[in-house]
Amino acid sequence: MLTFYSDHQSAHAPLRELNNGEWMDFAESPARLASIHASIGTGEAPRDHGMAPIEAVHDSEYLSFLKAAHDEWLAAGREGDAIGYAFPVCGRRRLSLDRIDAKLGAFGFDAASPISSGTWQAAYWGAQSAMSALEPVATGRARHAFALCRPPGHHSGRDYYGGYCYLNNAAIVARAAVDRGLGPVAILDVDYHHGNGTQDIFYKDADVFFASIHADPASDYPYFWGHGDETGEGAGEGTTFNQPLPRGTTWETYEAALDRALEAIAKFGARFLVVSYGADTFEQDPISHFSLTTPDMERIGARIAQADLPAVIVMEGGYRIDALGHNVAAFLAGIES
Ligand SMILES: [Zn+2]
Repeated sequence: MLTFYSDHQSAHAPLRELNNGEWMDFAESPARLASIHASIGTGEAPRDHGMAPIEAVHDSEYLSFLKAAHDEWLAAGREGDAIGYAFPVCGRRRLSLDRIDAKLGAFGFDAASPISSGTWQAAYWGAQSAMSALEPVATGRARHAFALCRPPGHHSGRDYYGGYCYLNNAAIVARAAVDRGLGPVAILDVDYHHGNGTQDIFYKDADVFFASIHADPASDYPYFWGHGDETGEGAGEGTTFNQPLPRGTTWETYEAALDRALEAIAKFGARFLVVSYGADTFEQDPISHFSLTTPDMERIGARIAQADLPAVIVMEGGYRIDALGHNVAAFLAGIES
């Protein structure tokens, strides 16, 4: 499959994250890329589409913050990765903030997503990989293309980062597809975790349908989004479809949810599909709790292919590094079956 990836995407390399009350090695490490490259190759370098498609989704103040955050961290006399510790859960509002710690809290929603010296560069080129994957599918040169995005994107909202995500690659592609007249567009998110950023970006938007199959937020990150009663708002009412599933979910249950998601996407009348693919539904993923196998990854891809829609596949999570490349390859083989 046509694959897009830039070496700049390995520049994001935080050392550790705060997880379950302890510092642990940063799970979303550049080593993930090596595993995927070993199975499917490195693909083509993306073309630079500039800031316009990113600015079509993300808030300008947020982007200014993200570009400058690590430099401001160093200017404040700090070392290593920038990480917030104070979050305005009550009364979040626009304030003119100077201190880097305040900004990290204002634009971030967790302590699992440090900003390193290469974060902006990596996120920017991940978004360019996503935009470059759109081109051949939009013009009909390819039915499917894969954006090997890293860092991932689906937890990042219009003006916030979190969950290892800084720019929402799937949303950037979906918005660009709508703007090019390819809609109606649907996003299918099959990462283990709910894509809260993607949901937020399109929650009031009638142009993009968002269907997600994920771990029940009652037990799993990101907790505050992804519940079954979140269905969209205003013009977007009915265009969000969440299917939370219990820990331990196996193929039989997953397949039924996937069928329901694809039926809903067909009913919406989608003509273009963006897939947020996470391999963290894998049974041995170190931070996730579904029980899907590598052959199941191929089954997911094959079932999506049956929807017979032009599609851009965007890489999201997947943290069992020695199996990650095999799982991505299996999924893409299913898409091409
Ligand atoms: Zn995930």
